[in-house]
Amino acid sequence: MTDEHEHYEAVVVGAGPGGAAAAAVLARNGVETLVLERGVEAGSKNVTGGLVYAEESAPYTVDALFPDFREEATERPVTDYYLHNVAGEKVETFDITDLHEHDTAWSDAVLRRRMDSWMADRVHEMASETGGGLLTDVRVNGLLRERGEIVGVTCDELDPIRADLVVAADGVNSELARDAGLMDWEEPEEWFQGVKAVVDVPPEIIAERFGVADDEGEAHLFSGDLFQDVRGGGFVYTNEDSLSIGSVFHLDSIVEQEAEPHQLLDNLLTHPLLADWLEGHYDEVEYSAKLVPDSKKAANPSPHEGRLLVVGDAAGQMQAQGPIIKGMNHAVSAGALAGEAFAEAKLRGKPEQAGDLYERKLRDEGVMGKLRPKGYRVASALGERDAVADLTDSLVSSSVGRLGVRLLGGAGLLEDLYSSPYLSQIVPDTQTPYVTLPTVIAEELGERVTGEADFEPKDLATRIGDLTYDTDVGNPHIELRDNSVEASGAAVTACPVSARDFGGGCYREETVKTNGSEQKRVSLDTQPCVECGTCAVVADTDWEHPRGGKGVEYKEG
Ligand SMILES: Cc1cc2nc3c(=O)[nH]c(=O)nc-3n(C[C@H](O)[C@H](O)[C@H](O)COP(=O)(O)OP(=O)(O)OC[C@H]3O[C@@H](n4cnc5c(N)ncnc54)[C@H](O)[C@@H]3O)c2cc1C
Ligand code: SF4
Repeated sequence: MTDEHEHYEAVVVGAGPGGAAAAAVLARNGVETLVLERGVEAGSKNVTGGLVYAEESAPYTVDALFPDFREEATERPVTDYYLHNVAGEKVETFDITDLHEHDTAWSDAVLRRRMDSWMADRVHEMASETGGGLLTDVRVNGLLRERGEIVGVTCDELDPIRADLVVAADGVNSELARDAGLMDWEEPEEWFQGVKAVVDVPPEIIAERFGVADDEGEAHLFSGDLFQDVRGGGFVYTNEDSLSIGSVFHLDSIVEQEAEPHQLLDNLLTHPLLADWLEGHYDEVEYSAKLVPDSKKAANPSPHEGRLLVVGDAAGQMQAQGPIIKGMNHAVSAGALAGEAFAEAKLRGKPEQAGDLYERKLRDEGVMGKLRPKGYRVASALGERDAVADLTDSLVSSSVGRLGVRLLGGAGLLEDLYSSPYLSQIVPDTQTPYVTLPTVIAEELGERVTGEADFEPKDLATRIGDLTYDTDVGNPHIELRDNSVEASGAAVTACPVSARDFGGGCYREETVKTNGSEQKRVSLDTQPCVECGTCAVVADTDWEHPRGGKGVEYKEG
């Protein structure tokens, strides 16, 4: 029966940067390629910060695969890069452009709807020449297997499709990687959660307030006490005529602190420094959120199984290099290497060797070395022990530590340390680099900023109400397996569209009275879900994506 199914040489699942790169290289090598994307348009499900990097040492860059990429799909080149250490209203700013320019051919700000849909058009043209193409509105819901072997994919909207190669480029919430046992979803410490607001600002105001010309842009990063004790940081990136303002935090820290993601974003939006930039121009057009993997812990060194090759976030390949976030470029490298591996294996008459070849290329081209740096393994083994982390924290905030900060700061050495590419790769995942040290730096060296926000950020209900949804009535894509507070209570605050005191979001804590006794229970309504993936990790759920084209549709991303 299965022989009757449609067959392609390659099926690529997902049209983000990983999928687009894989499809481009496959098509360029004449491999008949079908790309399946669940959004109404490529990019409509995606969120990034986001700066796309072209690394000098990378085997592939996005503009090498798509020649007009920078002219047509991006916002502004980033030319200046700053890190703001914050303690209340005191701020000490370091210029970390040297760090940013290390191994960087160029870096541009992007919005995902525009970027991904532009790439998808190019991919469709290229893949059509091989007898394939790109289809949107199609959700792949599993792997097609025969006698235990992966032989294709199954979809909600189409009959099963057979393929000699399946590339899972289906992002952080990859159902295919899970199906193949190639991604572990259990541990919050392996994930970051990102939340973002896009704020419309006219280009002339961006030019005036950031001091940039049309072909220039800036990246501003924030750490210190403005997110209380949650480990992570904030960002502001200049787009053509908007700002991307957001935060990326360790998910375990969000859970431990019972922090509310939208509130953390508001802390940044209303900081006096941002008030200076946004005064008279706060027009938030989109609120969004997504989980991202921490490659240092989650990147799979062997992301393949039979005919299945997994690339990008689905393989845990999102690198937090100190204050710099690199996921899109690594997804491009991995996607292209997967395509290359299959084309070479096919040429040798051994397509079944594509997975091993892909794994070898990831290693030999240096991609795995960046994703899981050896130095971090060594530094974290010591630095992330509780006793050592507590000691470092108390030392940094002691009078001796403060004196050291003043001396290093006075000699300009702190800025040099923050600009070291080696140190940025091995930063331990503790309170010290995100909260304690930047707070002490700002207290000891910072200047007071006096701006005052003349606006209130939008409340959560308005943010949700402003999003576009095509709700899949009667088909909830997430089901709570255990609605006890112990099993699923963390989702009440960690879900970016829920909050403890807000009843209209996805997760809620309720008191249920039964036979004279009272019990707290968690309930779920997936209607406002932005499909970030958080509750797949922090709650006991059966988690899957909505059917193709259903659910949230981002206009900016
Ligand atoms: C707030 C935030 C800030 C970030 N900042 C940066 C940054 O500045 N620079 C950077 O490089 N990276 C950044 N990242 C990370 C970056 O966005 C990701 O690493 C990158 O998008 C991964 O690309 P991908 O192709 O692997 O997956 P994605 O971009 O997630 O693409 C996956 C695609 O697969 C589709 N899909 C999923 N499941 C299915 C299915 N079952 N069937 C069909 N289609 C499916 C999705 O709709 C989507 O289009 C940031 C992320 C966040 C959330
Ligand atoms: S319900 Fe789950 S996937 Fe949806 S927005 Fe909330 S945490 Fe994210």
